[in-house]
Amino acid sequence: MMRNVFDKPGARVRLNDISADPPKGMTRAKADKRLEALGEELFELQDSMFGAKVRSVLVVLQGRDSAGKDGSIKHVVGFLNPRGVNVVSFGVPTAEEREHDFLWRVHRHAPRKGEFAIFNRSHYEDVLVVRVHGLAPKSLWQERYGHIRDFEELLAEHSTIVLKYFLHITKKEQEQRLLEREEQPDTAWKLNPNDWRERDHWDAYTQAYEDAISKTAAKHAPWIVVPANAKWYRNLVIAESIAEALRAHRKDWMRKLEEMGETGRKELAEYRQASKKKPRLS
Ligand code: AMP
Ligand code: MG
Repeated sequence: MMRNVFDKPGARVRLNDISADPPKGMTRAKADKRLEALGEELFELQDSMFGAKVRSVLVVLQGRDSAGKDGSIKHVVGFLNPRGVNVVSFGVPTAEEREHDFLWRVHRHAPRKGEFAIFNRSHYEDVLVVRVHGLAPKSLWQERYGHIRDFEELLAEHSTIVLKYFLHITKKEQEQRLLEREEQPDTAWKLNPNDWRERDHWDAYTQAYEDAISKTAAKHAPWIVVPANAKWYRNLVIAESIAEALRAHRKDWMRKLEEMGETGRKELAEYRQASKKKPRLS
């Protein structure tokens, strides 16, 4: 399966050279069939992870307006047991948030062991919208790439599987999506003139994204550029890459679950033994 994974620090990223369309030969029928199987696998992997409580997963979703952050959450999280998933959206910082460092509001939503955190936008906004609109001096946002690298390394060292997605759509596709929103009564609530305003800064965002991806790509916190012009392919790529990352830990988790089962059985046997000896009251 064609995928654009960036996991080397300083990797060269040219978004305009990466296709936003599904690869040749991929069809919706094929993708949907595969996605169904992946959904079941993801559910089982999550169940083992939840029980074993040795790792957690952080999924960061980034992309331009209408790139499909919400849709990805709906589809991919739909496969998971909601008990172990926390979805967090990061909007314009509140007054209180602005009075702290940029990671303050983010770190407290990092996933606990056994669980998923899905970020709809994230700490990356502080080197994207903040950079493009000059919301902070360059000297400040420039230091943030290093802070982000350290932050994600900290999470990874504490057993978090970090996966970062850039939902890649073309300018043409975005135009169609924004226009569709206007026409359809059920999506018109999403209308926001700001989306068109942001579109005027398309190239500046491209540059900001390329820098963010390049400067924060790491083995333990890879970026995946998702061809997102077709929603069905976008969902497949995200599900496939999450499953792949979790699959690598499956044996570990199963071993841990077996140990836990053994311990439980032993404790139960001891309890039964002890209660036999005890004189019965009543
Ligand atoms: P939405 O994702 O459509 O709900 O919009 C959220 C808005 O919050 C977007 O326009 C983001 O650019 C903005 N936003 C998110 N994080 C930040 C941040 N750290 N600083 C400024 N704006 C932000
Ligand atoms: Mg929006």
